[in-house]
Amino acid sequence: MQTKVYLTEDEMPRQWYNIAADLPSPMQPPLGPDGKPITPDMLAPVFPMNIIEQEVSTQRWIDIPEEVLGILCKWRPSPLHRAYALEKALGTPARIYYKNESVSPPGSHKPNTAVPQAWYNKQFGIKKITTETGAGQWGSALAFACSLLGLECKVFMVRISFDQKPFRKLMMETWGATCIASPSTETNAGRQILASHPDTPGSLGIAISEAIEAAVTDKTGSTRYSLGSVLNHVMLHQTIIGLESKKQLEKIGIKQVDVVIGCAGGGSNFAGLAFPFVNDKIHGASIDIIPVEPTSCPTMTKGPFVYDHGDTAKMTPLLPMHSLGHDFIPPPIHAGGLRYHGMAPLVSQTIIEGLVTPRAIDQVECYDAAVLFARTEGIIPAPETSHAIAAAIQEARKAKEEAKEKVILFGFSGHGLMDLSGYDRFFQGKLVSYSLPESEMGSAIRELNGLPRPKVVRTGKW
Ligand SMILES: *Cc1c(COP(=O)(O)O)cnc(C)c1O
Repeated sequence: MQTKVYLTEDEMPRQWYNIAADLPSPMQPPLGPDGKPITPDMLAPVFPMNIIEQEVSTQRWIDIPEEVLGILCKWRPSPLHRAYALEKALGTPARIYYKNESVSPPGSHKPNTAVPQAWYNKQFGIKKITTETGAGQWGSALAFACSLLGLECKVFMVRISFDQKPFRKLMMETWGATCIASPSTETNAGRQILASHPDTPGSLGIAISEAIEAAVTDKTGSTRYSLGSVLNHVMLHQTIIGLESKKQLEKIGIKQVDVVIGCAGGGSNFAGLAFPFVNDKIHGASIDIIPVEPTSCPTMTKGPFVYDHGDTAKMTPLLPMHSLGHDFIPPPIHAGGLRYHGMAPLVSQTIIEGLVTPRAIDQVECYDAAVLFARTEGIIPAPETSHAIAAAIQEARKAKEEAKEKVILFGFSGHGLMDLSGYDRFFQGKLVSYSLPESEMGSAIRELNGLPRPKVVRTGKW
């Protein structure tokens, strides 16, 4: 019985995988305010040019800089675990594996992109990075990366999480960052929202507007903005998760997985694990690949494929993606990292192609799954991660009904040690099932009516 598979530091991948090189149908371009495709220089006030180049690259393999590899080695390669105890509790013939990204110092997959993003900014001469954070995971990952590379970091944290998760703010401060609640009075975007919605719990869309505004209004030109998910370069950096997983499975003689699962907020940990397997599927492999979202924020399962802004104040270009509308304020659930109105364009395109099959799961089923996982495997999952676990359990039960010895791989995106108040509410029976009703979806989506529509291009192969 081998419970964990490790790679040596020498065996760590030296290149990221760019799925843009292999997509069977082309991506629709991001559009500017005039409705025309944006050019790289239009993004220059927001991101450094070396990151913009990655954002638009279609090169299949991109080298990971040596210094970045050196920092990633502080916690990578991350272990791949076999969930023997969970399998036993479920009585399933399936073999369940999980890739454990909770071993990074901030506790999630997010430093996999925070480190290279901070590094490329530094190479470009940038001194300060602004960002938003939902549950606090991204803010703490970027604070961690900036402290290791000697950059200033300012984080706008969604109000509801700021109030619910004071320890995340303290982590950011320990790594030398400043963290304020969003909406704040420091930006025009924040002040406008506060004037119309003084009691708003905030949203990632609002916090993104604030962080971009704070970056582009720095007259010295030495501040840029950083986004923790959604964009192509973030998906790229996260592919180290799936590339390591494939090597680890090969090490124990597994050539073919049947099911790959990840939870999806903006899509990055899912894409990071799944895209190397999506590549196999494009080239003929038979794999069920499942991104999982909450029923309270059903971007992929109910949101239309549209051109939409990534933020509430419409500062970002229009991205072709599944979206609930940039004005949509998701209900305040504990899985804060999954409260986002849009889905990464690259993930959206794999949905359109039928290469991946999204699923929405209710929060009560997710907490049930999280508690079963904690009591069998021992690690307390982040509320976001519990969505992947719940789907893996559904698949393991299905394998039992079908008496099939399937191989299931899921992404363990982070631990929940900073999220115990959600568990408290669950144990007190205060968490209720909640699916976003159709009636709540209408108005934010109607706002998109005046915007251009992306072409839906699919080959029909999957
Ligand atoms: C942020 C976060 C997520 C969701 O973000 P993605 O970009 O979709 O990966 C999932 N799990 C954890 C633990 C997170 O911190």
